[in-house]
Amino acid sequence: MLQVKGLSKKFDNILAVDNISFEVGNGEIAVLLGPNGAGKSTTIKSIAGLLKFDGKISVDGMENKSIEAKKVFGYVPETAAVYNYLTVFEHIEFIARAYCLDNNWTEKAEHLLKRFDLADKTEKLGKELSKGMQQKLSICCALIINPKMIMLDEPMMGLDPKAIKELKNIFIELKKAGCAVLISTHIIDSIEEIWDKVLVMNKGKIVLERTREELEEKSESLEDVFFKYTEGAIV
Ligand code: ATP
Repeated sequence: MLQVKGLSKKFDNILAVDNISFEVGNGEIAVLLGPNGAGKSTTIKSIAGLLKFDGKISVDGMENKSIEAKKVFGYVPETAAVYNYLTVFEHIEFIARAYCLDNNWTEKAEHLLKRFDLADKTEKLGKELSKGMQQKLSICCALIINPKMIMLDEPMMGLDPKAIKELKNIFIELKKAGCAVLISTHIIDSIEEIWDKVLVMNKGKIVLERTREELEEKSESLEDVFFKYTEGAIV
C-alpha cells in the first residue's frame, strides 16, 4: 500500500532523512521509533506531500502527491491544525465535502465524535477546544475519509486515557479492514500490543526494520531495540 524508495530530505545543510526505503502493507501497523530529531516527522510530512524531497513515494500504486493518492490516505500531524472559526462539526463537513464523501458520512461522523467524547461539542469553535480536543478532532478528520492508508505523528500526545484506549481499538479495526497504518511515537507502551513492524530511525536513517515475529524470536522488546539501535554503535 505505502512504498517509500530512496527518500532523502535536506533542509539547507541538514540531511534530515538519508536515503530510506520501506513499505507498509495492507492491514499492517508499522511504527516509526527514534529519538528527537531522527527524521520521523520529516518522513511522514514527505509522504503526506507537504515537503519537496528526493526519492519515490507511492500510495496504493499512485504517486503520493497526486490527487488520486491524496483521496485514499489520512494524516494526523504532530500538532493539530484546526480552524479557529469552524465548529467541530464544520471541520468534519469540510473534509467530507473536499473528499466528496457519500451522504452517509454524517452517521460515521456522529459515531467517531461520540467515541472521542466530542459529541456534545459539535457546535464549539476550533479556538474554543482544548489541545487534547483539537487532537481528537484531527484524528476524526483523518478517519472520516475511510482511509486505505493512515499516518499519525505522535497521535497519543495530549490524549486522555480513554481516548488512547479508543485510538488503540481503532488501530485494530483499521488493521482488520485492511488499512495500512504508520505511527510515529515515543510512547512505546501505547502501541506495544498492536504493532506488526518496527522501523527504528536514527540520524535520518532506518537503522533497524523488524517484524513482531522477528523480535519475539529473539525475546526482544521495542524498548530494547530502541536503546540498542539508537545509542552508541549502529549495526
Ligand atoms: P521529534 O521526535 O523531536 O519530533 P523527529 O524524528 O520527528 O523528531 P524531524 O522533525 O523529522 O525529527 O527532524 C529531523 C531533522 O531535521 C532535525 O535535525 C531537525 O532539526 C531538522 N528539521 C526538521 N524540520 C526542519 C525545518 N523546517 N527546517 C530546518 N531543519 C528542520
